[in-house]
Amino acid sequence: MKQDVIAIDGPAAAGKSTVASRIAEKLGAHYVNTGNMYRAVTYSALRTGLKSPFDRKKIKEMLENIDINYVTGTDGKLILTMDGKPAGTEIRAPEISRHVSEIAAMPEVRDWLVNRQRQFVSLGTIVMEGRDIGTVIFPDAKYKFFLTASPEVRAKRRLEQSGETADGATIASVAKEIAARDEMDSKRDMAPLRKADDAVLVDCSEMTADEVVDRIYAIVNKSMLQSRKQSINVS
Ligand code: C5P
Repeated sequence: MKQDVIAIDGPAAAGKSTVASRIAEKLGAHYVNTGNMYRAVTYSALRTGLKSPFDRKKIKEMLENIDINYVTGTDGKLILTMDGKPAGTEIRAPEISRHVSEIAAMPEVRDWLVNRQRQFVSLGTIVMEGRDIGTVIFPDAKYKFFLTASPEVRAKRRLEQSGETADGATIASVAKEIAARDEMDSKRDMAPLRKADDAVLVDCSEMTADEVVDRIYAIVNKSMLQSRKQSINVS
């Protein structure tokens, strides 16, 4: 049976978060940003005093002593928490971006997060963004999209997001950082960044966020209406 999931994967800074959160809003679905979960693990590792190259045994020990999860907030939206406290912009800082791909390549970390990520499906329809949602976390998701954009467009967009790039960063330096992260994410052994064969490819280079949202929403909504019609005809 297909899972009630809209999977949105793609490389760094392709605009996934903006698009995924807006789609969730339009559908009245829950939104989960799995990149932020890897970022929260990375933040915890650095805060614990661990340093790159990270020792897998020490990371494993750390995971036994921390809790990272999404919980339902008072407005019904999911909030990422680290040891019970809401995670803030600290997980989006450049230092975290520099180390997150190393942490995300560790099987111990992925194993620890995979069950946490799969359990959200019990909440109802979810929009989940990441790198391996359509390939590994929910291979049977009803809807799969792979968002991409040219390296220049992605670097420019990332530079415009305040607090996410180092002081003095340029389009060239951000493009280099993003390319390094994409390479590590694509070449790792476990759950590499990859478009699922059945995912719809959306190249956002020449599209506004609104246009991307409209395109994805139109596809999902049309298919949802069709299956509703079919189930009415059957009953
Ligand atoms: O989405 P974002 O760029 O914030 O993700 C940060 C990092 O987390 C990625 O570069 C990748 O290393 C890791 N990640 C992952 N699998 C996911 C989501 C993110 O490995 N599903």
